[in-house]
Amino acid sequence: MFELALARDNFTFAAAHFLVGVKDGRERIHGHNYVPSIRISADEVGANGVLVDFGDLKAVIREETSALNHRLLLPARNPDLQVVRGRQSISFRFADEAFLLPLRDVVLIDAGNMSCELLASFLCKRLARRISQELRVRGRLTVELAESVGQSASYSVSLDYPLARQSSGDLDEPRRLAGSSSVATDDSRHLITALHLAQESSKEGGSPFGAVIVRSGEVVARGRNSVRGGLLTDHAEIVAIRAMGRPLSDQVGESTLYSSCEPCMMCLFSVYYAGIRRIVYGSPIETAIAYGSGDPQIECATISGAFGLSIEVVGPLHADQAEEVFAVHKKANSRL
Ligand SMILES: [Zn+2]
Repeated sequence: MFELALARDNFTFAAAHFLVGVKDGRERIHGHNYVPSIRISADEVGANGVLVDFGDLKAVIREETSALNHRLLLPARNPDLQVVRGRQSISFRFADEAFLLPLRDVVLIDAGNMSCELLASFLCKRLARRISQELRVRGRLTVELAESVGQSASYSVSLDYPLARQSSGDLDEPRRLAGSSSVATDDSRHLITALHLAQESSKEGGSPFGAVIVRSGEVVARGRNSVRGGLLTDHAEIVAIRAMGRPLSDQVGESTLYSSCEPCMMCLFSVYYAGIRRIVYGSPIETAIAYGSGDPQIECATISGAFGLSIEVVGPLHADQAEEVFAVHKKANSRL
């Protein structure tokens, strides 16, 4: 049996981790300088007497560990964590606590928790897939991961195992998480109605935003942005909510709000207090900002997730058509 061992300084990565299911529910978010060491054992070496090219192996390890460097490592499959991954931000809740972070600072790990043991397993499987497929090595891979001096966990996997069947981790393509959802047949039709309202508003000198509220398949309220000439808070969604009137207590959660653009925070919370639990929107908020809106660039779905509003958010839908409404408006107007 041959064995190679690699433990280099530049494999070290500094990361914070989120660990639940311990005393007090969870550990405080804290970091470690994780030090991985890698061993490969095999019965045979190649014709050139080499098990694997050290340079190639080091490059693969550095790529995988640097992807975790300076990030918060968050378990994607913990039943007590409600994770919503947006386009640019990610939110998660644990018990009564809310977290909202830029997506680029977080790595979702395909694991039930973020212990040193499961992180060693995650890293080992990621490396095994690449070492087996790209470097064509057969044998056994062991990853030992130290989170402090004298404190480590290790995981071992066979490189002969059909690796396509193994979990490759969640680093590149996180599976769809809470907050995402499918588009129903009628969603398209009602969203187009909201876009028409936005166009009308623009043609009549207002801002290009429209919204409708639908209950049991029927449009029960319409709204157009009335900030010009009305109240500064008269966003299309607010105008529609006001037109809807008070839903009966057994109608809470039965309505959907369709908005030409991703709702701002004011409208999102108004939707919540109006008893609406589903939103479908056209343009993402960043498109509105690109056309001159002063809204903060925070996504509806991640805010809803962070604050436990239990609002299903669908969008962007018909984003091209929705952007066209802004583009046409912008040709004739200096601002949204
Ligand atoms: Zn708004």
